[in-house]
Amino acid sequence: MTTPLILLLICILSAWAVSTLAELLNALRRSPTPPAGLEDIHAPEAYARSQDYASANTRLRVRSDAVLTLATVLLLLFNGLPLADGLAQNAAASLGFGPLGTDLVAGLLFIGGLLLLSQLLQLPFSLYQTFVLEERFGFNRTTPATFILDRIKGLLLGAVIGGTLLSGILWLLHAYGPGAWIGCWALAAVVMFTLQLLAPVMLPLFFRFEPLEQGPLRRDIEQLAQRVGFSLTGLFTVDGSRRSAKGNAFFTGLGNKRRIALFDTLLNDLSRQEIVAVLGHELGHWKLGHIRRTTLVGVLKIGALLWLFSLLLRWESLFTGLGLQPSPHAGLLLFGLLMAPLSLVLDTLHNLLSRRHEFQADRYAAEVTKQPEALASALRKLARQHLANLTPHPLYVALNHSHPPLAQRLAALESLAAQTRHSGSG
Ligand SMILES: [Zn+2]
Repeated sequence: MTTPLILLLICILSAWAVSTLAELLNALRRSPTPPAGLEDIHAPEAYARSQDYASANTRLRVRSDAVLTLATVLLLLFNGLPLADGLAQNAAASLGFGPLGTDLVAGLLFIGGLLLLSQLLQLPFSLYQTFVLEERFGFNRTTPATFILDRIKGLLLGAVIGGTLLSGILWLLHAYGPGAWIGCWALAAVVMFTLQLLAPVMLPLFFRFEPLEQGPLRRDIEQLAQRVGFSLTGLFTVDGSRRSAKGNAFFTGLGNKRRIALFDTLLNDLSRQEIVAVLGHELGHWKLGHIRRTTLVGVLKIGALLWLFSLLLRWESLFTGLGLQPSPHAGLLLFGLLMAPLSLVLDTLHNLLSRRHEFQADRYAAEVTKQPEALASALRKLARQHLANLTPHPLYVALNHSHPPLAQRLAALESLAAQTRHSGSG
């Protein structure tokens, strides 16, 4: 075994071990009785189901991670990468483009082929998740036709957007060398902003948007938006119920094209005050600059990663030690594998920032609607609807949760409500 191979295996296996450990610790937190203060979230029978649901999801994720990790390790141990690169180079050469064109096509085939392979490996798990697991717990509303169409649309969008970005990056690196990472960064940032601009156009490929009907709910939401200075250009309901029984709300768009979309599943289960409180939370993210800040952090993160990637491209013995010709596309793949432990750290930091934003948005909603209780009861209902796991392990939360555990959010809202009562009573 060469040093680069050992290094890659250490990176892949250590990241896998940490995330699997978090899954196991999370599973061990299973308890026959709900935690104090959350006894009324689920009925006793539903509480047991919520624990079964969490365990079933854990088993599925642990298995799918193990299969993907094993496949990657086998690919590395049995020289799968030089083989795949050779196949991609030969196929590209047979097309008769010039040298730069051949390199680009070979790179696209190499990365695209390996991504497709990993998608195929994960397909049985996502089929099982949608049609067996979610079905068993009564969440699934996805028909096989919707499932297949979603996959095809996702693959096509991924191929067009990812393929364009990848071609641009490979071209810059082939033409100008590793120093072109700054150009790659600019390109990635442009693609990110374009995606945000195009989201209102792309989401209707997956969901049907209908304007929210006139009535007290619409009036309340419009008043709230006006009060916080949000120029609302569209207020829609979305047929989330066509895929899942779980409710949600989101915003899309940039600048003056902002839309709020409410899942029909949210409208069915929550009261008017609760829906307004949930929107107060979403508007809080906008008002407090969370969306802008998260985008900025994302752009800086991509820049830092591309700079590290440019260093890796200069490390020739890494490629040769694995039997690979140095090339930007092989470098991208090796970078992805070597980054597995750093990705865990970056995800943890990202989740930490996101959970902090969630607390701030909850506080904002409580203050702007003056109804912390309405948000608390909305969160309780959503947790019930999603069969939420009420006992997540802190390591699991740190690695995976962009939202704080329910108990912490309710405690924060309760202390706000207590403050309000206190100041209200003089
Ligand atoms: Zn939020």
